[in-house]
Amino acid sequence: MTLQILLIEDDPGDAALIAAFLRQSRFNGHAPRLRVVDTLAQARSKLLESVPDLILLDLALPDSAGLATVTRVQELAPETPIVVLSGHRDAEFEAQVMEAGAQDYLVKGEFDSALISRAIRHARIRARLEARLKLQDAALRAVASGIVITDSEAMIQWANPAFTQITGYSLEEAIGRKPKELVRSGLNDQALYEDLWQTIQDGRVWRGELINKRHDGSFYDEELAITPVRNAQGEIQHFVAVKQDISERRANEEKIRQLAFFDALTNLPNRRLLRDRLQRALTACGRNHHGGALLFIDLDNFKGLNDTLGHDVGDLLLIQVGKRLVECVREGDTVSRLGGDEFVVMLENLGAKPEEAAPQAEGVGEKILASLNHPYVLQGGEHHSTPSIGVTLFNQSDVSIDELLKRADLAMYQAKEAGRNTLRFFDRAMQARVEARAALEGELRHGMQAGEFTLYYQPQVDGSGRVIGAEALLRWNHPRRGLLLPSEFIPLAEETGLIVGLGQWVLEQACRQLHSWENSLPTAPLTLSVNVSARQFRHPHFVEQVLETLAHAGIDPRLLKIELTESLLLDNVDASAEKMSTLKAHGIGFALDDFGTGYSSLTYLKRLPLDQLKIDRSFVQDVLNNNSDAAIARIILALGQSLGLPVIAEGVETMQQRDFLANHGCIDFQGYLFGKPTPIEDFPG
Ligand code: C2E
Ligand code: MG
Ligand code: MG
Repeated sequence: MTLQILLIEDDPGDAALIAAFLRQSRFNGHAPRLRVVDTLAQARSKLLESVPDLILLDLALPDSAGLATVTRVQELAPETPIVVLSGHRDAEFEAQVMEAGAQDYLVKGEFDSALISRAIRHARIRARLEARLKLQDAALRAVASGIVITDSEAMIQWANPAFTQITGYSLEEAIGRKPKELVRSGLNDQALYEDLWQTIQDGRVWRGELINKRHDGSFYDEELAITPVRNAQGEIQHFVAVKQDISERRANEEKIRQLAFFDALTNLPNRRLLRDRLQRALTACGRNHHGGALLFIDLDNFKGLNDTLGHDVGDLLLIQVGKRLVECVREGDTVSRLGGDEFVVMLENLGAKPEEAAPQAEGVGEKILASLNHPYVLQGGEHHSTPSIGVTLFNQSDVSIDELLKRADLAMYQAKEAGRNTLRFFDRAMQARVEARAALEGELRHGMQAGEFTLYYQPQVDGSGRVIGAEALLRWNHPRRGLLLPSEFIPLAEETGLIVGLGQWVLEQACRQLHSWENSLPTAPLTLSVNVSARQFRHPHFVEQVLETLAHAGIDPRLLKIELTESLLLDNVDASAEKMSTLKAHGIGFALDDFGTGYSSLTYLKRLPLDQLKIDRSFVQDVLNNNSDAAIARIILALGQSLGLPVIAEGVETMQQRDFLANHGCIDFQGYLFGKPTPIEDFPG
């Protein structure tokens, strides 16, 4: 490529001389191509046409003179190197010309072809280097990363504007000082600095993150890379540090973490974080020979409060519960919220042996009970809440997290069953019970379909010993365990709701029996008592079903008696009374079973359409050798009389018991003395 040179020279002699010099010179093997103009105005129009590789500039032109000429030409061709041709040597002027942006300064008459060629070459090189430097400088200033250049002693020599922006230190404040004098926060490990210094001294790049301090004293997270720069001899002469303020990124990371691992309402760890910590605690247990405990906490009346006062108030309560829980535990323990009103507290660093850990965990549990029992002030109103707490201990990692949570949960349910506002421990026996229960439930379902249930009949007699009826008592012919009594399966049937179907079956069976009794004269007047449990009685279709069953069997409703317990009836007296009245209108009778064991609240009993009171077996049993039992029996009998209700005694085993009861006004009797519960084939009649 031929070098294009523009000569701006008004003296034709000088121009000719320079042209002659240049004809002899070679750039990349070619003589340069020269264009000559003699005014600045002409130079302008030429430069607009095309930009040359270099400008040779005479400063004394007809339309411009002196230093201003350099500036003007430079404005016309900012990137093009300029070699000034001056009429005289003047060191001070030369310096000004160079300062103004010219690349070289030649004095006319003092140069020949070789000198001008060399000046042209050097001017081009210098222009290129300057352009590159300018670009790099602009880049260093423009980047968002803070850049610091130090000497080998870490003394700052230069820093870019981003450094100022991040740290708050101006370039002037930074130069000559060490970074540690400016930004060290005291919040990083000393070991980190040692590693940093060691690494860069060894000539390697150090990358890491530091917490640093700004000029104004605030802290920021910094991502930092320090690169050692060696000189030609291989010695480290500089360090270049590139730093980023990552505070915002950190804040975002923290926000994400917060969302992923913490409950939004209470800011407590959520289930995920609890599991994570539990996993770590289990691993740590094996190592440090400590034990731990999980406390599963459920609020007893939360749903009610939430429904009546609204979710906003419910939320406030949960927040306060969370705060109280945190106050009950030590620093390293975890208080988490699983959701709803379920909280789990994880205690660590308890004794390794269960006998040590158990009282420690219980201590915390009691503290929690006491704390959560205090009234809560929510939106001005005072509210009360109690927790049920299930506790399980852990001391090795041989039990899974799920298993532990399940155990604590089970223990919590035990606490609920034990009457709430209390604490229960999980233990092996409890676990076994739970498993047996699950198995029993399956068997119960199956047994109902397989016809494994049967009714036994126990006679009821009047004062003269004549059989007047019977109580139908359920039995389960378990294929493996033999004949099971109701106490072994009724509670579970009740809990699982299976009692509804089972009870319906009993009712149908009883009606069928009544029907067959009706067909023969001696048995026609016999009544049959059927036990109905709470769940069954509360079922919305209970009344309908009883009536339908009776109608379907085509029997006299007056022969059917339903036995209910006090606790069942008192749970909702009005609803109970209403159901009973409907059935009673059809002739069905009602006996109050197990009388004496409940509240025996007269006020309520008067509101219920009862036909009979049944003294509980437990009073009958000791009526002769326990004064207080005798007294109770007498009072019940008196009560029956005052209410105008006949009383029947159950569990009568001896003649003496019968006589005592009869003497105090008992009308009817039931018990082994008159007959045990038997299959219908063995029933007298
Ligand atoms: P319950 O209604 O109080 O029944 C009386 C219980 O006392 C029966 O126990 C009966 O066998 C027992 N018993 C009767 N006389 C004597 C006696 O002289 N000495 C002794 N030691 N015991 C006597 P069982 O059959 O085990 O029933 C227990 C409970 O199971 C019943 O108490 C009743 O609450 C419930 N139950 C029985 N059958 C049904 C049923 O079909 N449905 C429902 N829901 N519950 C039933
Ligand atoms: Mg009964
Ligand atoms: Mg009873």
